[in-house]
Amino acid sequence: MIRKKNDSQLYQHIILVSLDSLRSDCITAVNSDFPNRFYRGGKFKTVMLDYLVRRGTYFSNCISAAPYTSASHAAYFTGCWPRRNGVYEFFNRRIGRPTLFELAQRENIYTIFQTDFPIILGDSLGFSRGVNKYFIESESAAFSELIRRQNRDTVSFFHFGGIHYPYGFHKLKFAKVDFPKKVRELESKFNIKQAEVYTDMLDESYREGEDRELLLKYKTIIDTLYSRGDYKSLHQLYVNGIDYFLKHRFNRFIGRVIDFVDHTNSLLIVFADHGENWAPDSRGHSNAINDSVLRVPIIMYGNGVRKNMVITDLIRTIDVVPTIHQYSKIASADFDGLPINLANPKDSIGFREAFAQVWRVGDRMKIYKHQQHILKSKKMIRPLATRLEKEAVYYGRCVLNREYSKDGVLVGENFYKNTGKRLIVAKKNFSKEKTNLKNRLKKYNQIKYNNSQKINKVNQSIINDLHALGYRV
Ligand SMILES: [Zn+2]
Repeated sequence: MIRKKNDSQLYQHIILVSLDSLRSDCITAVNSDFPNRFYRGGKFKTVMLDYLVRRGTYFSNCISAAPYTSASHAAYFTGCWPRRNGVYEFFNRRIGRPTLFELAQRENIYTIFQTDFPIILGDSLGFSRGVNKYFIESESAAFSELIRRQNRDTVSFFHFGGIHYPYGFHKLKFAKVDFPKKVRELESKFNIKQAEVYTDMLDESYREGEDRELLLKYKTIIDTLYSRGDYKSLHQLYVNGIDYFLKHRFNRFIGRVIDFVDHTNSLLIVFADHGENWAPDSRGHSNAINDSVLRVPIIMYGNGVRKNMVITDLIRTIDVVPTIHQYSKIASADFDGLPINLANPKDSIGFREAFAQVWRVGDRMKIYKHQQHILKSKKMIRPLATRLEKEAVYYGRCVLNREYSKDGVLVGENFYKNTGKRLIVAKKNFSKEKTNLKNRLKKYNQIKYNNSQKINKVNQSIINDLHALGYRV
């Protein structure tokens, strides 16, 4: 993709904000049916996100490439499908394509990375590559770093785990009194018996002492409610957690970011990596391909971005970096995604296809041991054997979900119509559309993971010549 560009159209600062686990239908400016069904405490409102939606462009039909944090973020950051960037499983392989941060660094752009999940979005899988300054659970310090570097070109990323369970809190640091209080309250309200041995010890962050204890207790509460089929209570905890996180941690932060964007030449992109849904075939998010988990919100905001616009055309999370590439000085790469025209998004999208897959290892203890081994040895070890369990393909107004047994035999298949905001069960047979979708999946599964990050010398000299001519490639 080659496009001649005028430097005055480029943003100096690119700011990405990831709200881990935020469902697309939990932003009240565009949809409030789901949260209001479960919210306790008046009317559910996402004030600051609503502000951004009204003054920016909201994409209501964006599909994530995976329902887990690692693979979803790797797709966002590389602009490549999980099958090609290498991170298609939960915690098994490193990113094999250049990330946004590496592409920025190649052009001397300063990069800042803040995450609440340093184990997942950290060194082990390659997320810290190309990052000048890496922060853990300290968005204020990371934001101060951006202010300090505001005379340079920057790319910064702020990831929040507060919407993920333990819903609303993330850690004691952000809810010293309320977090333990809530755990005690839930244990007594639901008559929870804490396990003597915990089987799910997977963690996204480094937790010790009381923090670790509270997380394990919270997981037991969730497991118990799930085994009872009490999805209503789980959704209540989730929605009230969003409210708590926004009010106690996020609103103030994003207010400062908006102020920064309004006074500088910046593009702000707020997104989620996956949603959350409790149902027999959907245990939160990591094993699910239903629409409530795969459909993710994306809001773009900044000078030059269309205001008060809702786009229902299908886009993918892999389209974000190619879009940033069109509007900043980051280096080029061979992206699978396509750019979006921010001044006129409606006419620039056309028909795109989206894929998502769930790859499974086996039990959680096995992944936990694997993860511990990697963290201790500080290097990637032989990947565990995994298998494709579920996959989804979206194209035009059609969606196909498929599920496979341990032996790779197709055991379930569902077909839906996509309204651009949600899915509805298709009444007719649509055999022609189904065949089309199956062929797209087949082609997707032929993509080979290619761990080649280096641009060869011949290509680099051509690229340098094109740069000299004023092209951005
Ligand atoms: Zn996540």
